[in-house]
Amino acid sequence: MDKKFRHKRRSLSRYGKTMNRYGIDIWGKNKFDIKDDKVIVDYKSKPAIIDIVNEARKNGLSGPLILRFPHLIDKQISLIYSTFKKVKNEFNYKGKFNAVFPLKVNQYSGFVQNLVKIGKKYGYGLEVGSKAELILAMAYNNKNAPITVNGFKDNEMVILSFIAAKMGYNITVTIEGINELESIVENMKNFDGTIPDIGLRIRLHSSGIGIWAKSGGINSKFGLTSLELITAIDMLKKYNLIKYFTMIHFHIGSQIENIAPLKKALREAGNIFAELKKMGAENLKSIDIGGGLAVEYSQNDNSFLRNYSLKEYASDIVYLLQDIAKRKNVEEPDIFIESGRFVAASHAVLITPVLELFSKEYSEKALKFKKNNPPLVSELFDLYKDINKQNALEFLHDSMDHMESLLTLFDLGYIDIEDRSNTEILVNLIIKKALILLKDKNTNELLSIQDRVQERYLLNFSLFQSLPDTWGLHQNFPVMPLDKLNQKDTRSASLWDITCDSDGEISFNIKNPLFLHDVNLELEDYFLGFFLVGAYQETMGIKHNLFAHPNEINIEINDLGYKITNTIKTKSIISILKEIEYNEEEIRENLCKKIDESEKMDEKKKERINKMINIFLNDDSYLKTDITQSRFFKNE
Ligand SMILES: *Cc1c(COP(=O)(O)O)cnc(C)c1O
Repeated sequence: MDKKFRHKRRSLSRYGKTMNRYGIDIWGKNKFDIKDDKVIVDYKSKPAIIDIVNEARKNGLSGPLILRFPHLIDKQISLIYSTFKKVKNEFNYKGKFNAVFPLKVNQYSGFVQNLVKIGKKYGYGLEVGSKAELILAMAYNNKNAPITVNGFKDNEMVILSFIAAKMGYNITVTIEGINELESIVENMKNFDGTIPDIGLRIRLHSSGIGIWAKSGGINSKFGLTSLELITAIDMLKKYNLIKYFTMIHFHIGSQIENIAPLKKALREAGNIFAELKKMGAENLKSIDIGGGLAVEYSQNDNSFLRNYSLKEYASDIVYLLQDIAKRKNVEEPDIFIESGRFVAASHAVLITPVLELFSKEYSEKALKFKKNNPPLVSELFDLYKDINKQNALEFLHDSMDHMESLLTLFDLGYIDIEDRSNTEILVNLIIKKALILLKDKNTNELLSIQDRVQERYLLNFSLFQSLPDTWGLHQNFPVMPLDKLNQKDTRSASLWDITCDSDGEISFNIKNPLFLHDVNLELEDYFLGFFLVGAYQETMGIKHNLFAHPNEINIEINDLGYKITNTIKTKSIISILKEIEYNEEEIRENLCKKIDESEKMDEKKKERINKMINIFLNDDSYLKTDITQSRFFKNE
């Protein structure tokens, strides 16, 4: 046997069975991987994420951190274009393929600037749903790439679309209601013949499924009914606008996990396309099928979310539209897609430093036995002393029962707070010992009690700011430690953020369990990475407890290493306060005045405190872990 191969076999048998890969082969395939004991980026020089994080922290970026990987944006865009190209060739499909990125999925500058740069070679455009997004598109979109304008529009938004057309953009305004068409008629005379292309959003009777699907269906918020479509066509003809009508559009919802409703929607839309052409829409040539291409967020072999591949998605679209075109004898439509989640999700990773394990203070030294201890406490101590590999599970069960009884005794006033403290310490010590003794056993044996022995990990981030869909939609994002991946993950974990809100928790879920390492944070750092967070989370995040969008860095990877090419700092406390309508001067003056009026300090002290306050106002809100790093001490 080849030497290299033998080595590989050995390492597999040593770690293969017991090492937790956190589902990285499902959600991170071809994007992230594990090498030695670390998570790496699976690209070119394959850097370890922990090395990137450590470099950023050395440069002063503490607290939570967003990593952006532009090569992953490129990878997703290129995958979409190449898959559709291949499928079109297979079917000999005549219509063109186009794609636009819906800005609502992530409007952050650190993302969009990458996107338009990368999108240039594909002619990849932007989709907008508001005046602010339209302004962004007009400022940054590539000239060769399309802009589509969806959502409810007022007259100003229609005027902006005309201006974009005048600037030379290939822009299509999708009409959501007849009044928007009236706005176009109203403005066309002011722009001497330059008129944006017009699309009509159709209301389908077929709808999406799942928690995100409120955009499709006969009762949906959007789209023209059959009657309104007929009225619109009449109006377009009457005002000589019919030649600008080029597109129909629908969007059945985000994260379409089951392909069936999309196929239904495509059949319906394909037939509407053919009918409208028969009604005289001579330049109608495109169907924009919206977004919805799903992302596999699952960390678990037995709970895949998506039941189709990109190849299947593309094939279904091309096949169905070709089939209808053939049967209805119309030309094969150009295809537009507006996938956002699929393009943006994987490019961003959220890094959260673990601040604390809640049971860390429980050590043998902390026990304070009395002369006479309650018998159950003495029994707990015996369990702790005598626990071994054979009896570990049984002793663990006994200790949990003892704890419940002792806590009841406390509630009834039979034992005091010292007894209670000894109980908590002993049970935690027993749990830790048992988990070490049982670490080679199948976790199934332990699974029944994992919920009760869970460790709480406090993370330096805000769930509301950085993972709002976990809070609002109970969405799971893949999460895993950045290193120690050759060590046994013994602790069933729940994750807590630093807001003062009990909703800021990702609880331990026995169906989808998360196990982490038992670490001593006094001796080493421990970081968790939340993956696939590049779609929807950033602008939807809220400033609960006034925690701001975290520090972010842009990382470019080459054959030799990687480079942090851009750093955008989180907002200072004073900027956040200004954002919620406080006047900076007033805050500074109030603080200054109150310090000045205080009789508890002399002039010199007041001066120093004013300086300190200034430092705090210009710093951010996240927790500083190392007291010696606190800038206030350095500057003094
Ligand atoms: C939100 C939205 C999209 C993006 O959907 P994804 O699921 O992110 O692909 C596309 N088109 C329209 C009209 C939307 O409202």
